[in-house]
Order: sequence, then structure tokens, then C-alpha cells
Amino acid sequence: MTILVASQRLRLYDSDELDVVLQTMARKAATLLPPTHAALIGIERRGQPLAQRLREYIARQTGRPELPVYPLQVSYGARAICKGGLNSLPKMVFKGGALIGCDLGTLNFAKIKGSHTAMKSGMLAADAVADRLFVESEGGDELTNYVDSFKASWLYEELFASRNFGPAMHKFGPIIGAGFNWFDQNIMGGKMPFTLHDTQPDYACLKLAKDCQKIDYPKPDGKLSFDKLSSVFISGTNHEEEQPCHLKLKDPSIPIGTNLPLYDEPAQRYCPAGVYEVITQEDGEKRFQINAQNCVHCKTCDIKDPSQNITWVTPEGAGGPTYPNM
Ligand SMILES: Cc1cc2nc3c(=O)[nH]c(=O)nc-3n(C[C@H](O)[C@H](O)[C@H](O)COP(=O)(O)OP(=O)(O)OC[C@H]3O[C@@H](n4cnc5c(N)ncnc54)[C@H](O)[C@@H]3O)c2cc1C
Ligand code: SF4
Repeated sequence: MTILVASQRLRLYDSDELDVVLQTMARKAATLLPPTHAALIGIERRGQPLAQRLREYIARQTGRPELPVYPLQVSYGARAICKGGLNSLPKMVFKGGALIGCDLGTLNFAKIKGSHTAMKSGMLAADAVADRLFVESEGGDELTNYVDSFKASWLYEELFASRNFGPAMHKFGPIIGAGFNWFDQNIMGGKMPFTLHDTQPDYACLKLAKDCQKIDYPKPDGKLSFDKLSSVFISGTNHEEEQPCHLKLKDPSIPIGTNLPLYDEPAQRYCPAGVYEVITQEDGEKRFQINAQNCVHCKTCDIKDPSQNITWVTPEGAGGPTYPNM
């Protein structure tokens, strides 16, 4: 029996890589499924083209195009990506501490890859700590040697080469921006003689609701697309009950008083876990509801709220998503 699992990530692979990835995922799926299932596909939300591609893959691999396909969503999760890169790097060190990985912002946005850069920054910081220990430092140092070795490393070079990628997309849009990036990355090797900057914070880029067209998304069909709450369920998210809400509002009146009239309270839509709801009460008054127990800890609300009114704090009791099958 052929068992296949796909995910949103698969659109990043070319055909040969896709075959390898699917085989690996099929082995993983075999541990999750009863043997009577002929094929299993978890398909990306946007995914009709991918669904078609996978059906072709099944037909090719099995020689049986009629083989039934049982879509199944195996897991769900979300995480805001830290994509500012070199232009957004904060001060890297302070007395007795250093920032590494995505806390520093070392993700290469041109590749959407940050594992290798996070590891490299950790290695550089560890070397810098070891250097200080070898000269018998008593601690509390500011690791300026970490900053120096970072600037001399391939990590800095890589981030330097991709520094214009995000700002170009934001300034010039997806078509001209993509053309600029193709030229910059493939012809110039990221060595354009100037640096573009994003001067506007992410939260300040939101358009007013009145300037936007309402998008009527099709209802999830439970086969190729799934609703938020059943998705959150399979993320294994859990928080201990009766703890203080870990999503703090600086001013509780802002969601209904400001964000709703100006932006149709975007938290209702950007939150991937349906944590934020605007409820219309019996008397017609609107109320902002926070279902904090569903939070999958992606931190989008902390970044994206146009009034910068939401602060995500660590919940009590080690709660959160568990991502068992990812
Ligand atoms: C959807 C998505 C796809 C990606 N795909 C790729 C890819 O294909 N290839 C690639 O190279 N990179 C990819 N990345 C980027 C990559 O995952 C990150 O750059 C990398 O994981 C950063 O590593 P890190 O150790 O710095 O941070 P993280 O991996 O984020 O680790 C931070 C850890 O700290 C823990 N933590 C946070 N707060 C606290 C607290 N208060 N107390 C205790 N623990 C805490 C978190 O739970 C987490 O485990 C992707 C990222 C996303 C979001
Ligand atoms: S409440 Fe915030 S951090 Fe939690 S899932 Fe929603 S957007 Fe992400």
C-alpha cells in the first residue's frame, strides 16, 4: 500500500527533491495510519495545484491512477518569522550576555533559512565565551570578541548579501521587487553598491479597512482545507486552566474603540489559532474576547497589532503547542 503525506513545505521543492521528501514522509505516515489506508495526503491550504501534483505522483508511483486518496491534516503550527536580517540587527552583546540565532535576527530572508545561521551565531558566541574563560575572566564581560568574529564570518557575508531582499520586495512590490532581487542575487551576488532600508515598522504598514476589498474565503471543506479550531486541536496546544491571560492588552478599550473601526480588528484574521474574537452581544454592543488557551505561541499579535497594544508574555506551567507530528 502506498501512503503519502504532503505539507505546505512541499511547494518549496523541485520534482526530484519532492520524490525523496514524499518517500520520507510516507515512511513517517506508515507509523501513523492503519494499514488499510491506501494513501494519505495532507495538502496545503492553498493547494489545488499541489493536490493535482500529488495525485500524479501517486499514479506514477503505483501505476494505479484510480487509487483512492484520503486527505488528512497531520499537524498544524505557526510561528512569526524574524526576517529583518542585517539591517535590523540589534546590539548583539551586553554585560554577561549575548543574543544569538533568531533572537538576534540571523535568518537569511532571501532563502527563508535560519537554522544554519542560528547555529553559526551560537558557535561564534560559544567560542567567544571560551576565549574569555581561557584568560580566566570572572564573568560579566561584554563579549566584543563575539561581535568581531561575527563580522569576520561567512554568516555576516551571507546576511550582507541578502540585506536588500526584503526591503526591495516591500519598496518595489512583488514583480519589480522580484526582478531586482533576481538581478541582485544572481548577477551581483548580493553586492549592489547601496543598501535599501525598510523605514516603516511592520505594524505601521497595515492598510485601513475602508481602503481594502473584503475577501470572501471559501469555507473549509475538511478535505483540502481545514478550519482554525480543528487545526489548533491537532497542534496539541494546552495551557493550564485558571492562569492569568498571557496576552496582555496595554489598553483594553483599543480593540473595539480604535482597531475595529479603523482596521476591522485584524487580530480576528491574522491570529492562526482564532484566539481573538469580536463578539456582538445581545444588546448589540461589541466585545473583544481573548481565547488565550488556544494560543500556538506564534507571537504574531505582539508584532502586528497596529496599535502595538498586545504583549505576549510566557504563560504559566510550560503550556503551549506540542507539535507531535511535525
Ligand atoms: C514556518 C517556518 C519555516 C522555516 N523553514 C526553515 C527551513 O526550511 N530551513 C531553515 O534553515 N530555517 C527555517 N526556518 C527558520 C528556522 O526555523 C529558525 O531560523 C531557527 O529555528 C532559529 O533557531 P533559534 O534557535 O535561534 O530559535 P528557535 O528555534 O525559535 O528556538 C528558540 C527556543 O526558545 C524557546 N523559548 C522561547 N521563549 C522562552 C522562554 N521564555 N523560556 C524558555 N524557552 C523559551 C522556544 O520555545 C524555542 O524552543 C523556518 C521558520 C519558520 C517559522
Ligand atoms: S494569540 Fe498571538 S501568539 Fe497566540 S496564536 Fe494568536 S497571534 Fe499567535
